[in-house]
Amino acid sequence: MTKPLKILLLEDSPADAEMIQRLLKKEGLEFESNVVMTKDAYLQALDQFQPDLILSDNSMPQFSATEALEIIRIQSTNIPFILVTGTVSDEFAANIIKSGADDYILKDRLIRLPAAISSALKQRSTDKEKQEMLEKLTDNEERARVAIEAANMGTFDIDLITGDLICSERYNEIFGFKKQKQRMDYVALIHPDDAGFWNKAHEKSRRTGRLFYECRILKKDKTVRWIKAEGIVRKNEEGVPVRLIGYIIDITEAKYLLKQKDDFIGIASHELKTPVTTIKAYTHILQQMLLKRGGIPEVRLIANVEKQVNKLSELINNLLDATKMISGQLQLSHVNFQMDSMLTELIRDLQLTTNKKISLQLAAGTCEVHADRDRIEQAVTNLINNAIKFSPDSDKIIVSTSIIDNEVHVDVEDFGIGIKQENKEKIFEQYYRADEDFKYTFPGLGLGLYIASEIIKRQGGKIWLESGEGKGSKFSFSLPSIC
Ligand code: ADP
Repeated sequence: MTKPLKILLLEDSPADAEMIQRLLKKEGLEFESNVVMTKDAYLQALDQFQPDLILSDNSMPQFSATEALEIIRIQSTNIPFILVTGTVSDEFAANIIKSGADDYILKDRLIRLPAAISSALKQRSTDKEKQEMLEKLTDNEERARVAIEAANMGTFDIDLITGDLICSERYNEIFGFKKQKQRMDYVALIHPDDAGFWNKAHEKSRRTGRLFYECRILKKDKTVRWIKAEGIVRKNEEGVPVRLIGYIIDITEAKYLLKQKDDFIGIASHELKTPVTTIKAYTHILQQMLLKRGGIPEVRLIANVEKQVNKLSELINNLLDATKMISGQLQLSHVNFQMDSMLTELIRDLQLTTNKKISLQLAAGTCEVHADRDRIEQAVTNLINNAIKFSPDSDKIIVSTSIIDNEVHVDVEDFGIGIKQENKEKIFEQYYRADEDFKYTFPGLGLGLYIASEIIKRQGGKIWLESGEGKGSKFSFSLPSIC
């Protein structure tokens, strides 16, 4: 049930007050009213009665409508105010509306009053909504501004038709400018080695609606800084990109720390490799010596040592490979080879390391590829080892090939724990490891898939996966075939 409307009547004639109340009742308006005629009573009613609407006569012995109106506007209350009066000049009517009254009604045309009340109430509620919306917008704007400042972001807004740029102070500061320049002046500072990449990112943003890149800028003072940019492209009704709005941040420090970490891993793994190789060699010699002496239990012990040293050596090799890939130093030597025979030999060897059955299903017709055989073998090994590792409750793995549109496709399928949808995107990133399964823990550095994907991508191939949590995974890659 809606609450009755609270009407404050400023009226010195009890007969007129009664006439107004009677009319409103007759029109079916649910209301309660309070009649006052002095300033004090009016102020008290505003405070205690808290009206939803004020109907005011023009002038009372010690008080006037103009004064009454002024009081509520000073208090910034949003109460509709309607002047209900005997006679009034056009000028006075115009003035009182200008001062903020919602309407005026002559007492001899009181029949208009219900419609005037309803329209004034509607208008006030729209005004209130607008005001609230405006306050919310201002709040949001303020919050966004503070967040942008705190994150040290430089913002930009580019008109893609005219090329005009509007940017923030911080944006200029990052580029080393004291004041806003033409867009070309900023573009000219993109590091020559990153210019192609920068162009591609902008071209792509027109298609995808999103801009993202990290690149270097070469400032006028010859210093090099790394920046990261993100933006959104706005299109007009015809779908033409017209505006690019976004931000840049200076990520030089973060890049420097990342490089320090990569350098450290590179140096540490390099330093570890030599002693591990020596231990491996001595272990082998020791094993041969013990075999000759016939010390079977000792040979078994030393075989365990060899197994662990091999694992250690594999971890170090993965770290070294990853550092080479990150710094672009991975050397590839291409040869022509049969994918089928490579897989057959590899699976024969890997089958010796697991109790799970690895079955190989080869497509009809052998297929040759031109690639680095050892590296492709390394990529497939990583995929199969993962398939073994991440399927603790299943006993089969299927490796298959197919030839599609002049490409050789290789699939490695397992029936293990699978991968959650939200983790799929990051799975090929270096050091990424999905959340641990509650039942099992799996060892690893999070490099196997990164290495496999880099090997495949650097040889013109593609790598992807199909998987669902608890449903197993199928990792696939393709390489151009030369069959
Ligand atoms: P690592 O195996 O050393 O953790 P990888 O780069 O090979 O590193 O794999 C990264 C992550 O991807 C793994 O930690 C695991 O969470 C997930 N993953 C890889 N292969 C599979 C698979 N066949 N099934 C389920 N999860 C997998």
